[in-house]
Amino acid sequence: MLIETTDTFLPYYTKDASSQHSNAIHGKYWVGDRSERWMVGVSTMSGCPVKCKFCAAGKLKKWRNLTAGEIVDQVMFVRERNHGNDPIFCKEFKINYTRMGEPFLNIHNVRKAITAITELHPKTHHYVSTIGLKGSDFSWIKDNITLQISLHSLDEERRKWLIPINNLMTLEELGAIRTGSNLKTTINLTLVDTKDFDITKLRKYFDPKYFFVKLSPINENDISKGNDLGKGVIEQLNLV
Ligand code: SF4
Repeated sequence: MLIETTDTFLPYYTKDASSQHSNAIHGKYWVGDRSERWMVGVSTMSGCPVKCKFCAAGKLKKWRNLTAGEIVDQVMFVRERNHGNDPIFCKEFKINYTRMGEPFLNIHNVRKAITAITELHPKTHHYVSTIGLKGSDFSWIKDNITLQISLHSLDEERRKWLIPINNLMTLEELGAIRTGSNLKTTINLTLVDTKDFDITKLRKYFDPKYFFVKLSPINENDISKGNDLGKGVIEQLNLV
C-alpha cells in the first residue's frame, strides 16, 4: 500500500504575503518554525478512483479507502518525528486532508479521524478538500473545520474532462455552498493551464464574502505531462 503524508511549516508572517516573490524564504533571517504554523497533509485513500488528468495518484492501478486509524496514524507519524515540537504549543496546527484520495468518497472514516485528532489536540484546524460531489453533506463543516474546493478550471466542460467522475457538482452548485466554519471556504484554484482561469466566472459564482481563492500552479508529473497539460503559471499572479 502506498500513501503520501506531508509535514511542513510556513512562517507566520507570510500569511499576508501578496507580492510575487513573498514566499521565498531567505536564510539570513529567522523564518519561523513549527511552533508558529505547522501543517500536516494526510491521505484519505491509497490510490484514487477519480483519476484526474493531472494527478500522479492515477499511476497506481489499485486503490482503497484508508481506515480512520490509518488517517490518524499519519499525524502520529509526523508528530513522532518532530521531537521538541508539540501541537499544544503551536499557534496554528493544521491538518490538510489534501494528499492522496477524495475525502468525500471516504467521508465516514475522515469524520471519525477528525473527531479523534480533535480529542488529542483540541486546537487543531481541519481543512477538508474536495472536488465537489453531488449529494455531499456539508452541514458538519463548521467551527474548526473548513472546506476547500479543488476547482482546477472555470470552464465547466474542461473541468469535467480534468476530473472524470459522473457526479461532479457544477460551478453554480459549488458557489452556493455555505458552511458554519470559522473561516471562509477556500477555492483551491490549482491550474494546469492559463486558459482555465476566468475572472468573470470566478466573480459570478464565488462571493468573496464566503470564499477565499488560492491560486497556484500544479506540480507537474508524468500523468499531467502525458495528458499534455501545462504548468498553470499565470505571470505576475502565482506565488512562484
Ligand atoms: S481526486 Fe484528488 S487524489 Fe484523486 S485523482 Fe483527483 S486530484 Fe488525485
